[in-house]
Amino acid sequence: MPKTFLITGGAGFIGSAVVRELIHNTDHTVINVDKLTYAGNLESLETVANNPRYTFIQADICDAKAMQQAFNTHQPDVVMHLAAESHVDRSIDGPAAFMETNIIGTYTLLEAAKNYWRSLKETNPAKAETFRFHHISTDEVYGDLAEQTFPTPHGSEPAFPSPLAGEGPGERGQSLPLFTETTPYAPSSPYSASKASSDHLVRAWQRTYGLPTLITNCSNNYGPYHFPEKLIPLVILNALAGKPLPVYGDGSQIRDWLYVEDHARALILVAQNGGVGETYNIGGHNEKQNIEVVQTICDILQEQVPKSTNYRDQITFVADRPGHDLRYAIDASKIERELGWTPRETFETGLRKTVLWYIENKIWWKRVQDGSYQGERLGVST
Ligand code: NAD
Repeated sequence: MPKTFLITGGAGFIGSAVVRELIHNTDHTVINVDKLTYAGNLESLETVANNPRYTFIQADICDAKAMQQAFNTHQPDVVMHLAAESHVDRSIDGPAAFMETNIIGTYTLLEAAKNYWRSLKETNPAKAETFRFHHISTDEVYGDLAEQTFPTPHGSEPAFPSPLAGEGPGERGQSLPLFTETTPYAPSSPYSASKASSDHLVRAWQRTYGLPTLITNCSNNYGPYHFPEKLIPLVILNALAGKPLPVYGDGSQIRDWLYVEDHARALILVAQNGGVGETYNIGGHNEKQNIEVVQTICDILQEQVPKSTNYRDQITFVADRPGHDLRYAIDASKIERELGWTPRETFETGLRKTVLWYIENKIWWKRVQDGSYQGERLGVST
């Protein structure tokens, strides 16, 4: 049965991948509600813009009236809430927008959804029964795996005392603790603290009002249409431009990478088949040190856009981000076991696709670069 999906933040990196997946590969209708901040880009949606099943509404999720109107007019079956301020470095320089959008905006959206869902219970109980509010969150709410202690038969031991010691992160990751759906929240940055707050609000609206919500917490995404302030696109574009490739600290921070289209498919699966009140962690089983990611991009570029010097020579180590978490890693076994999701891309295939996309889509990123962001360092203020 075709459904109506109300997507917030559908002009962003992950939101646009969800919208493209829904329009290109399903029969569902999409209402995209996005404020179009610096991170929102309608050019990421050119392939769906003229589709009769797609509608765009420019609105702020903090605007209660606009949100209620969107619900009343479009009568969604499913809400997928992705709108957020999402860049950790920006949250260090200016946390206010993160508190506003991520906390107040989520509260405002929950209230609009609750009012709509309650009215549905009167007018269309069957639709109220299947209505879902899916909140998209991050693994950063769990904090730093390197800092956490986990109970062992011998008492509490550091989960991962030194990410610099020992062999490569891939092998180490097999036996080391991972974030599960029951890992306690311990956010480190203004961004992750605001996302943690929004997760708590969503859970409270489910427990208190019975609103049928679901939450997903995902690891770092990468792929096409990624705003070039984030590590992978920044490195690709700086490398091509002959600029330095900034690596924070010694580059030993470990992230668990997931190709954005695999994330989009997982999100749609959870929104449709996930259990009400449940949380699902989503990750790609791809733990990599940042330095390894940067070196691999250099090697792919060397092969695809060869030059006489080595791209790796452009790597420059810069002062670390304040409060930088050392390691994130996701246990995605619940979504795999209960909903049958598995990522299609390995890190190697996904990263290659991503580098090729940036090489082939200069018009998209040139226009983004010609806007307000010029690749400058963010998040150094403390
Ligand atoms: P993004 O920054 O690329 O996009 C965010 C979108 O939200 C933009 O289109 C922006 O215009 C819109 N927006 C911002 N404030 C708004 C407001 N007040 N009202 C309406 N729209 C607003 O972010 P992303 O990387 O696509 O992330 C999407 C979601 O997924 C976020 O909630 C983020 O916390 C979460 N997430 C991201 C990652 C990642 O690696 N990027 C990983 C896990 C979870």
